[in-house]
Amino acid sequence: MALLGERAVVLGASMAGMLAARVAAERYRTVTVVDRDMPPEQPMNRRGVPQAYHGHVLQAGGVAVLDELFPGILDEMVANGAPTWGDGDLSRVIIEYGGHRFLPSGFLSDPVTAYVPSRPFLDWHVMKRLSALPNVTVLGGYDVVDVTSSTDCRRVTGVVVARRDDTEAAVLGADLVIDASGRGSRAPIFLEDLGYDRPREDELVINLAYTSQWLRIPPGAIRQHMVALFPKPGDATTVALLNHENDTWLMTVGVMAGEEPARDYADMLVLARRRAPRHILDVLEAAEPVGKVAHYRTPSSRWRRYDEMLRRPDGFIVAGDAVCSFNPIYGQGMSVAALEALALRHCLRKGDTDLPQRFFRAAAKTVRVAWRNAVSADLSLPEIAGERSLGLRINNTFADMVLTAVESDPVVTSQFFRVLGMLDSPARLMRPSILARVARANLTRPQSIPAPEPALAG
Ligand SMILES: Cc1cc2nc3c(=O)[nH]c(=O)nc-3n(C[C@H](O)[C@H](O)[C@H](O)COP(=O)(O)OP(=O)(O)OC[C@H]3O[C@@H](n4cnc5c(N)ncnc54)[C@H](O)[C@@H]3O)c2cc1C
Repeated sequence: MALLGERAVVLGASMAGMLAARVAAERYRTVTVVDRDMPPEQPMNRRGVPQAYHGHVLQAGGVAVLDELFPGILDEMVANGAPTWGDGDLSRVIIEYGGHRFLPSGFLSDPVTAYVPSRPFLDWHVMKRLSALPNVTVLGGYDVVDVTSSTDCRRVTGVVVARRDDTEAAVLGADLVIDASGRGSRAPIFLEDLGYDRPREDELVINLAYTSQWLRIPPGAIRQHMVALFPKPGDATTVALLNHENDTWLMTVGVMAGEEPARDYADMLVLARRRAPRHILDVLEAAEPVGKVAHYRTPSSRWRRYDEMLRRPDGFIVAGDAVCSFNPIYGQGMSVAALEALALRHCLRKGDTDLPQRFFRAAAKTVRVAWRNAVSADLSLPEIAGERSLGLRINNTFADMVLTAVESDPVVTSQFFRVLGMLDSPARLMRPSILARVARANLTRPQSIPAPEPALAG
């Protein structure tokens, strides 16, 4: 493939950075990925990705990209113990979304294999594959402190890095700099210092607080491999239980809109009692906590609109959470990062003229779908403050009708999974064959659906 330059430098070696580096390696003679942390030598949490202590689901759209960029990586993860859910047997999951419990038995009409590695396990596999590329170097233990530019500031020409244990700085020259340094990215400041505007920000305040705990659960104690109870109007809590590699279990609970977060496992059980079916609660009450609980707060979903900027320097793009960080309960960030990597690959195939503009616009198409999904779902909760436009209210009424059908119809459930998993566009839910099923389910729905044997609060 024709090369576009000597070196690309990527800021951040988490999911967005690793995948962007993988595609940049096709077009630049060398790629250097800089991170504060040393690359882990085994699956483990690290300081720079504190969210990895919490429940992470890789959507099917992200799985497909991983398989394309690193052929064989999915089989490798399975060989190393990652569980899969491939037959679409609905009795193996408990999912409640917007107050609607997914069909508890039967099979999806069009299942896609789900892979359920923990975040550290997933990142380690991706890092191993990335580091094996002959033209990629991962430079751990360095802080990125600034970017350098041409004298007229029209092109970013590299980054300034400083060793974490040293004050001396060095410059890494680059034909392309990709900022994938996460929500805390300083790209708006870099741009301002070069004489450009900061990007506008769209924001929805959610005040989400997660608490997570690893658990030991005896093999066979629970049939389901995943429990995911999303917030519903009147109760903006999330309860998730995930069966990860080698029979490890991670429980995450979340509260929104400023509700007091769980401080310890006893508090987590109190929240679970509000939502979880009795047999799951029995398992949780008997489970043995492993290690300490972890906490994480996310103030808002935030989208930095680099795609709308009128002026921007050449040689500099931003990706992943640095562009948009979503309410994490919908599990979209890693898959959006993966789809952005494909967008970057596509843009690089057309050369580097106007690359930032072309990339930001292409990436915004993926971000927009995920953003609308997260923001619409959050604004369906009265607990979340924000403007509800007519369009949003119509969208949420339709979503509620689809979810009503998901309670009883495996074909609608299958299509909903594909949309949620970012494999299909939301427009697929509006096909006549799906609309007919949605209408039928809503017309024949009993007036009141009994809640699925909830445990008593207390
Ligand atoms: C609590 C929580 C749960 C989530 N759950 C899910 C989920 O279920 N599914 C899903 O798809 N997504 C989920 N996400 C989102 C997901 O974690 C991110 O979208 C994903 O990690 C991609 O982010 P990123 O690579 O852009 O940035 P990050 O993961 O934040 O990584 C940024 C990297 O940059 C490095 N860095 C930062 N600044 C510097 C600097 N100055 N110098 C050097 N290095 C630097 C950091 O060390 C880190 O490695 C969740 C997020 C949170 C907060």
